[in-house]
Amino acid sequence: MATATDTTTTKGFTHRCPKCGAEDSLRLDLADLRAMTCKECDDELGPDDIRAIIAGWTRVLRWIETAPEVE
Ligand SMILES: [Zn+2]
Repeated sequence: MATATDTTTTKGFTHRCPKCGAEDSLRLDLADLRAMTCKECDDELGPDDIRAIIAGWTRVLRWIETAPEVE
């Protein structure tokens, strides 16, 4: 019988949960690819959440790469 942690129905990700910080806690239900669920905080993480995180870090990276060096 399949369970929520069955590797044939879910895929785990080793990334840190951006909501609670837990490591290796994100699981994607392969029957429903819209959002990952964190097994620690039970929160959902969808593609839009991931895009927002990437956009935020991209702005930081752009700022770092274009900032003048302080001497
Ligand atoms: Zn979490």
